[in-house]
Amino acid sequence: MRLLPLVIALFALGPSHAASSRPAPKDELRTLLAELVAADTSNPPGNETAAAQVAAKWLREAGIESELIEPSPGRGNLLVRLKGSGKGRPVLVLAHLDTVPAVKTEWATDPWRLTEKDGLLYGRGVQDNKGMAAASILALRRLKQEGGTRSRDILLYLGADEEVGSGQGLDWMMEHRPELKEAEFALNEGGLTELSPDRKEVRFVALQAAERVSRNVTLKAAGPGGHSSAPPVDAGPLVRVAAAVARVGALTFPAHLTPAARLHVQGRAQAAPGELGEALRRIAASPDAPPEDAVTAVARLDPALGAVLRTTCVPTVFKAGTKSNVIPATAEATVNCRLLPDADPKAVRERIVAAVNDPDIQVEMDVSPPDSPMSPVGDNAMFRAVKAAAAKVWPKAPVIPRMSTGTTESATLRRSGIHAYGIDLFALTPDDARTAHAPNERVPVASLQPGAEFVYLTLKHLTR
Ligand SMILES: [Zn+2]
Repeated sequence: MRLLPLVIALFALGPSHAASSRPAPKDELRTLLAELVAADTSNPPGNETAAAQVAAKWLREAGIESELIEPSPGRGNLLVRLKGSGKGRPVLVLAHLDTVPAVKTEWATDPWRLTEKDGLLYGRGVQDNKGMAAASILALRRLKQEGGTRSRDILLYLGADEEVGSGQGLDWMMEHRPELKEAEFALNEGGLTELSPDRKEVRFVALQAAERVSRNVTLKAAGPGGHSSAPPVDAGPLVRVAAAVARVGALTFPAHLTPAARLHVQGRAQAAPGELGEALRRIAASPDAPPEDAVTAVARLDPALGAVLRTTCVPTVFKAGTKSNVIPATAEATVNCRLLPDADPKAVRERIVAAVNDPDIQVEMDVSPPDSPMSPVGDNAMFRAVKAAAAKVWPKAPVIPRMSTGTTESATLRRSGIHAYGIDLFALTPDDARTAHAPNERVPVASLQPGAEFVYLTLKHLTR
């Protein structure tokens, strides 16, 4: 049963007189981010309303009204429209307010208290995705304060439930708030702005335009089972599925470059150092038939980049047996595949069946089409806006498209015809980036202001 929405507040107030007690502009991002981090929105249970109220307060102070929408109590989604002339269709800016949980004992700092240590800011959600929420709020405040007429409406959507399926967040909103579908472009999480490990140079600004699709494959076998003291001659289900898992685990799918991956490889091939650069240049020189050894080298040197050059399948769960003296009568393994958005799932299943090579093992997989459209990667208003913004903030870094290894809510938007793109507003080293969803999530202090400026300039350019 679907719960009815509880629209609990409509904020439509003028600038607050409390604004004078606000921090200086350069500290605003940090102050707002600290307030958002302090609102514990670990999902489950979520409780995003706490963070949505912080956001609403900061918007209200700049005279921006926002609407808090709760599909169920505590699961706050905040929606804002900054009116433009209507010359162009709206741009939708999204950030999610929920976070994955944090185990306090695994952290060196309090996960819900923004803490600076050695030039890094720690706190649950600083990367994923409260930093983007904070920067977007401040960008809207600046644009509102500047006045003037913008060519497009800006819809800001700060959502709930991104980490656990979006049922209380974007999926619900797309069904109940059709104005979201008016957007021509969306700016979401999912990009990559890479900082060199020595933190001296921003190497590239990658705009996510496509993503892979997750599909689970189940391998199942059954047999008579029995007492382990008198094993049958034939291998039981556990042994057979284990052998099949080993064969599927060793399976490699052919390399194939989607349009976003092709431009990404070309863009990075020019400046990437050493062996990685050499492998990328060889792939860029032969994009229709990427050399297998070069793709394997990329996967070894930069696993996240290697992962988008082909479909991958990796065994993740194995279930068999309950007692040391009982031969199990059933065994089951799960293999998680990440399909390229233009892959044929039937062909993927056929390759897995061939690798399993055992007619007594059932291979179950959803073979419906991936249904994950790719946003255009040529020259369009979004790429022009991001390039103009990046040219000011990170003048030496090329702007290139990317396909992400993981999934974001952009797939949902793209299915509705919106050209969604993912950014990473904070320049992060690969080690920084790995702390999302992990203990000690962090962003470099030096990446804060450029990130805020990047979001503001992108929106300003896109709504000129
Ligand atoms: Zn996340």
